[in-house]
Amino acid sequence: MYLTRLIYFSRAKTGVDQDIEQILESARKYNGKHNITGALWFDGDYFVQALEGGRHAVSETYHRIAADPRHADIELVSCDNMDSRLFHKWRMAYFADTQENRELITKYSAHDKLMPERMSARSLLHVLAEGQLLGH
Ligand code: FAD
Repeated sequence: MYLTRLIYFSRAKTGVDQDIEQILESARKYNGKHNITGALWFDGDYFVQALEGGRHAVSETYHRIAADPRHADIELVSCDNMDSRLFHKWRMAYFADTQENRELITKYSAHDKLMPERMSARSLLHVLAEGQLLGH
């Protein structure tokens, strides 16, 4: 099964902050069972997520997440075959809106706030890959 990495971003629905722990818990449980790794960035407004794994598992997971009513305006950024995982240690690393994370945005974006629609796929991947070192 080909290894695939998919990146998307979406707009969080109001009040979803309360659900983050539950989202992460169910994500990590499911991802662990299906050999999916990745990272999720949430700044209170946007989600940016990378999903890695077998092509079928990534595709199925993405469609399930896309149907989740807790976010909207989902935009696929990239979906590529890959030789190795970047987030192999994480069933789902998570980064919130901290000062340290905002500094990463400034490094890879023309803005000091996360605006994924104005960032390239490569910049978003760099943000997630560097952010995982700060994640939990
Ligand atoms: P069930 O738990 O049976 O729920 C049925 C439906 O209700 C689904 O459409 C579900 O999305 C929705 N739902 C569940 N809880 C709530 C709630 N509290 N409020 C409103 N609607 C609800 N899942 C993964 O497996 N891996 C991931 O990496 C992952 N990342 C996610 C990232 C984001 C930004 C979001 C919003 C969700 C993510 N999820 C992830 C969760 C995923 O969308 C599903 O909710 C979860 O996988 C359970 O799926 P299910 O079909 O068993 O739904």
